[in-house]
Amino acid sequence: MDLRAKSRELLESGAVKAVIGFKDGTMGARRPVFVRQADKAAALVFDEGCRQNLAAYLTRNEVQKMGRVAVAAGPDTLRAILQLMAERQIKEGDVLPLAMEGTEAVELPTAQAVEEHLALKAKELPAADRELLARLDAMTREERWAFWQGELARCVKCYACRNSCPMCYCGHCTMDCNRPQWVPVPSHALGNLEYHMVRAMHLAGRCVECGDCGRACPVGIPVHLLTFHAEESVHRQFGQRAGASSRLDYALSTFRPDDKETFIR
Ligand code: SF4
Ligand code: SF4
Repeated sequence: MDLRAKSRELLESGAVKAVIGFKDGTMGARRPVFVRQADKAAALVFDEGCRQNLAAYLTRNEVQKMGRVAVAAGPDTLRAILQLMAERQIKEGDVLPLAMEGTEAVELPTAQAVEEHLALKAKELPAADRELLARLDAMTREERWAFWQGELARCVKCYACRNSCPMCYCGHCTMDCNRPQWVPVPSHALGNLEYHMVRAMHLAGRCVECGDCGRACPVGIPVHLLTFHAEESVHRQFGQRAGASSRLDYALSTFRPDDKETFIR
């Protein structure tokens, strides 16, 4: 069913309290919208301009207090929803993913339905990201270090990357902590490196590779490639992908007594 009709139906029947989707923004851009009344559903749009990962809203207190919400979701948002379920940040019954196929919205009422839907969607990184990742892989360690030092020196510490990320949901981020102050607040070479290294490590095995953090950066740092790289490394080492299932254990904090590495036993 068309997204607008589906949203109207869900809001009229009381099946959800709100539909999180997109509407027209300024200068032809799209922007997120929370539709709470059936007669406002006509404002909803969905097209290639609707790229923001709306799962980032689902861990906010004010959204969780609303009750059950529907989300107009492309594959990256669906992956983030599964990962948030795996991390027990949202419950299956509290979110109704609407998988978007063009402007058609398909209800996926269970985690299993989301997993089956995603299993049919091949995950492919954008060509520009693949190209830059390949260039980085081909560099020596020293060249890669110089590349990231140069890029991260431009960071103005606005935290748009963190705030746009569906998997950065800590209520109190270490970066905001001032007693003790683990990481310096102003933008400078060492503090910037510390922030981005900490963030990449926290996202390793959890990043669903939506690219929102990179798109959010006002100075154009490809910061998403740090977390992509960490995620790919976890995939290679442990054979699991973030966002593939609502029943994933976190690879970096889980061990098995029969692990192949002897140091763990
Ligand atoms: S690509 Fe960036 S915004 Fe998306 S999940 Fe990974 S770290 Fe978060
Ligand atoms: S969005 Fe860009 S400038 Fe802002 S903190 Fe992240 S990397 Fe730095």
